[in-house]
Amino acid sequence: MNTRLLHEQDIAEAADIILKGGLVAMPTETVYGLAADALNGQAVAKIFAAKGRPMDNPLIVHIADLSQVTELVREFPEKAGILAEKFWPGPLTMILPKSPRIPDEVSAGLDTVAVRFPSHPLARKLIARSVPLAAPSANLSGSPSPTTAQHVFHDMNGRIDAILDGGECTVGLESTVITLATPVPKLLRPGGVTLEQLREAIGEVELDPAVLHPLEEGQKAASPGMKYKHYAPKADVTLVKGSRESFAGFVNERADDHAAALCFEEDIPLLHIPYISMGSSQAQEEQANRLFALLREVDEKGYRIVYAHCPSRTGIGLAVYNRMIRAAGFEVIELA
Ligand code: AMP
Ligand code: MG
Repeated sequence: MNTRLLHEQDIAEAADIILKGGLVAMPTETVYGLAADALNGQAVAKIFAAKGRPMDNPLIVHIADLSQVTELVREFPEKAGILAEKFWPGPLTMILPKSPRIPDEVSAGLDTVAVRFPSHPLARKLIARSVPLAAPSANLSGSPSPTTAQHVFHDMNGRIDAILDGGECTVGLESTVITLATPVPKLLRPGGVTLEQLREAIGEVELDPAVLHPLEEGQKAASPGMKYKHYAPKADVTLVKGSRESFAGFVNERADDHAAALCFEEDIPLLHIPYISMGSSQAQEEQANRLFALLREVDEKGYRIVYAHCPSRTGIGLAVYNRMIRAAGFEVIELA
């Protein structure tokens, strides 16, 4: 298959591909999504094939107008209304009881569906000209999510019909996922809308244990995506918790031809090992925005071992930590 590179002026063509049951990678404010008609099970099945995504990992359905939610869900509770009012369009996905119209391919056999209203103008235009779109991140399953059209091209060239280039994604990490299908709302995946913001809007919100910890043997994932190794470069990543000095001491002792530090700007003067900087330890939004591109850079530069300095877990830092700990396959070293 020849993958075409499209731009804003080609939006009608992109919509046409979707309506014919094809696949288009589209920019959103979080990461690039690999989109298909959400109500066409056969089209959605192609997403799983192109990504190599396990069929039991459900997809998020993207809308471009709040009225579209009614055909997708059985219930839209009051708290969903409050969250929609506050955070849509934006990087928040809500899990709700699904309508019978949702194909099994989208919900992976669950009784719920994930819905998001993205804010990116091109995503909204594409949906407005076509239909609600099922779209997971447009990377090969397991690798870091794409935040530029070039990342998508690297992973998906020859596997999908088209890539709609909308430049770099602003948030850089996938959406926050909250379920409203449990008695108490529960955060399943942290993202651009923070736990603090959610609690301020609707009161009690539980934190799913899988956000911070590996699932225990035999434990069922509330969000199936959380059980897979994710976001990982080919290099072996270890997350290192500790101060600037202890981090630098630890990595300097391990300097060799293939190792690098994924560090904060403040660490740089202390390092005697190649490094890739995530920016200031205080600039959490910048860390979120750069993380996936940096994980791809690790492989481009040929590093085989990466020691990543652990970020703070407040605000959007919780999302950065959640992705990094998965990129590290939960390999964490705590220094004194
Ligand atoms: P991705 O689109 O690749 O960013 O992944 C979407 C995330 O949302 C995955 O972790 C899914 O497991 C999760 N998800 C999607 N639909 C549901 C659902 N109905 N219930 C729980 N988690 C879901
Ligand atoms: Mg993904």
